[in-house]
Amino acid sequence: MRETAQAADLLSWYDVHARQMPWRTGPAERAAGARPNPYHVWLSEVMLQQTTVAAVREYFTRFTALWPTVGDLAAEEDARVMGEWAGLGYYARARNLLKCARVVVSDHGGTFPDTREALLKLPGIGPYTAAAIASIAFDRPEVVVDGNVERVMARLHDVHTPLPAAKPELTALAATLTPEDRPGDYAQAVMDLGATICTPRNPACGICPWRAPCAARAAGTAPELPKKTPKKPKPTRQGVAYLALREDGAWLLETRPDKGLLGGMLGWPGSGWAEEVPPHEPPLEADWRDPGGEALHTFTHFHLRLSVRVARVPMGANPRAGAFLPAATFRPSDLPTVMRKAFDLARGAFVDME
Ligand code: SF4
Repeated sequence: MRETAQAADLLSWYDVHARQMPWRTGPAERAAGARPNPYHVWLSEVMLQQTTVAAVREYFTRFTALWPTVGDLAAEEDARVMGEWAGLGYYARARNLLKCARVVVSDHGGTFPDTREALLKLPGIGPYTAAAIASIAFDRPEVVVDGNVERVMARLHDVHTPLPAAKPELTALAATLTPEDRPGDYAQAVMDLGATICTPRNPACGICPWRAPCAARAAGTAPELPKKTPKKPKPTRQGVAYLALREDGAWLLETRPDKGLLGGMLGWPGSGWAEEVPPHEPPLEADWRDPGGEALHTFTHFHLRLSVRVARVPMGANPRAGAFLPAATFRPSDLPTVMRKAFDLARGAFVDME
């Protein structure tokens, strides 16, 4: 009973303070009978994995303008979708996004299934995303636990076990609070509480709807929770990218293999990436120059220092890797971030070579 009252307190707070997001059907709209669009919920959840709300807003708005339904997205060419995804990172997600859209169309008639179990069978949908879609789009009382929810639960119950070991305990605690009434709004309310009030550094306990039952507030431990097992420092890898500009303005580019980092994305031919630059050959014979500087980028598991080589090449140039992309079809915005950083370095060098 206490838990039900606690969920109700949070929902009352959410009715007034819900964040407005382009993919969200807010509490007032829901009360008026509007239902969330499962395509929007799914798309936003996939985009939000490891990316901030601020970054996702623009991408979500563009994707839904270009592809208003999951059927429109499923029918699009891979390269176009990968190009629009560029900059969001974690490109395996974009490939799974397309796969999932196509399965929804081919196996489900273009309508998303409405249970966690059925959603879990779709490509690129793991336990968290399945629970989030089932809850937010279909109002199923699933337990939705992201980083925000973990923080709120650790504080509410003053849990000092460090993450990630604390995950099962925090999920069990979250389950005891998930209500049968308005579970979709509730899931979003806990996330909003974590994002706006129960923030990592300075939780605003004074205006929190859960200040009365909160154990960490009473104990004065809120700012130090959740505890985390220290992460190992990331290693640094190095590599070289080759940027060849043909005299007609075409750039030498390659589509990276589907498997592996930046799989399926456009990129500059070059070496592999390792602790030391691996042995390799340039993609063609040319007067390669080192303009100095490095493109620095951090991936999930390592930092990358990518140096570049630049060359102007004649019309007959015959590359061992990649293909020349005409200037009219090359859009730097289609490149993943690290490749765009390399392009920015090289572009300056070509201006100097004029
Ligand atoms: S009272 Fe403070 S620590 Fe507790 S849930 Fe609210 S904001 Fe977080």
